[in-house]
Amino acid sequence: MDNRKVRVRFAPSPTGGLHLGGVRTVLFNYLFAKQHGGEFVLRIEDTDQTRYVPGAEEYINECLRWCGLTPDESPELGGPYAPYRQSERKPLYRQYAEELVKKGYAYYAFDTPEELESMRERLKTPENPSPQYNHIVRKQMRNSLTMSDAEVQELLAKNTAHVIRINMPADETLTFTDMVRGEVTFNTSQSDDKVLLKADGMPTYHLAVVVDDYLMKITHAFRGEEWLPSAPVHIMLWKYLGWEAHMPQWAHLPLILKPDGHGKLSKRDGDRLGFPVYAMNWTDPRTNEFTKGFRELGFLPEAFINMLAMLGWNDGTAQEIFSLDELIQKFSMDRVHKAGAKFDYEKAKWFNHQYLLHKDDQTLAALFQPVLTEKGLQADPAYVATVASLVKERCYFVNDVWEHGFFFFQRPASYDEAAVKPKWNADKAAFFEAWSAQLATTSDTSAAALEAAFKALAAEKNIKMGELQLPFRIMLTGGKFGPPVFDIAATLGMEETRQRITNGLEAFK
Ligand code: GLU
Repeated sequence: MDNRKVRVRFAPSPTGGLHLGGVRTVLFNYLFAKQHGGEFVLRIEDTDQTRYVPGAEEYINECLRWCGLTPDESPELGGPYAPYRQSERKPLYRQYAEELVKKGYAYYAFDTPEELESMRERLKTPENPSPQYNHIVRKQMRNSLTMSDAEVQELLAKNTAHVIRINMPADETLTFTDMVRGEVTFNTSQSDDKVLLKADGMPTYHLAVVVDDYLMKITHAFRGEEWLPSAPVHIMLWKYLGWEAHMPQWAHLPLILKPDGHGKLSKRDGDRLGFPVYAMNWTDPRTNEFTKGFRELGFLPEAFINMLAMLGWNDGTAQEIFSLDELIQKFSMDRVHKAGAKFDYEKAKWFNHQYLLHKDDQTLAALFQPVLTEKGLQADPAYVATVASLVKERCYFVNDVWEHGFFFFQRPASYDEAAVKPKWNADKAAFFEAWSAQLATTSDTSAAALEAAFKALAAEKNIKMGELQLPFRIMLTGGKFGPPVFDIAATLGMEETRQRITNGLEAFK
């Protein structure tokens, strides 16, 4: 490793919602930067105007904020290497492309879209259905390698539409050391002559990523494994531009895989199997297609982050719960797995559950308040905290507090009568009359005291405790669910409990 200050970047293209794999790339960047006292840069790679989606950049900023993985430099925050949006850096790239042409490492190509299409038609075979513009094909095309200097100068003087392509060497072996994959070797013949500068003067991703990583003094480049096939082009550019000594160390992160079967987890898999793949809700402004996100489903950012860290990394022990600070301390690139990690939604929920359990009840209550407000309900924070303490064991998400505790906030609208009526009789009705009367004057209203009093009264009336507890529960909640019944009564308070007994007696008649 050279001894420059560590600088890493997350370089998304603003083309849509942020996939959880993207957030994991952010996380690994962030952890590595913090661990080395370095800087974490957010750079927006928006040179492909055809794929640009309005709102996507703001969405990325918001995702990073929600996750608490804020960059040190970004289009929003600025920084010493601004601008951080590639479209705003457009005038900068041409000189590098021209320099490459001068050195013979790139060339002008004047082929029209029709000419490219007819080349593909002419050369396609069943084994090679989409022939590429490569070291062989370029010899048959209209470019500055096949045309005379005079011809080229004339076309340029006439402002003829052209692109600049990299001149990939034929049959050279390229080797580099990837922080995750170790030694990686390519043959340059496998890569085509990628366009570096487009006809509109915009750089392509390939040129812009290298120029910006150089100018922004990036020391380590983490990105998804799907970019590995582009690495030879990027490495050649670093060499051709004479910057090889400054080339960042590469780390191609393993893919996050479908839970069933093979291949990269896609948004479609999420839709198909019913779980989120994007960090936050996303509506595509072009199609209005809506995709649910982890945030809105109730994931806590710290649980989401922890879960992502474990998709492809561990510290070598069985520990699974790590705070962000702990991750910063313990994270190490050499423990990032080479193989892809299968996404497991049940496991993701488990992480969230663990974080919910370890939240104190007041915090949980505060997180749950908006759910109540949305339902037009109000409750005292201390009361909500008690409810949270009683039901959190069963909750994966904050919203589940409602599913497991709604009856704390509203009286039963109906009762599971089938569970009570067949065994209901006048003795039981009399028992509950007496029980309600007793509650009116009870001074110790703790769950334990209520349970003891209920037991004593049942014994006195000679009815089995088991025969009475279920009707009592159904009076309070409407059904056969909820935490221990005396906890429910103690939380509801004596007045509300008595009212519910009265309503229940009426319903069971
Ligand atoms: N702009 C690329 C993307 O959309 C970045 C790849 C890289 O980090 O080099 O993912």
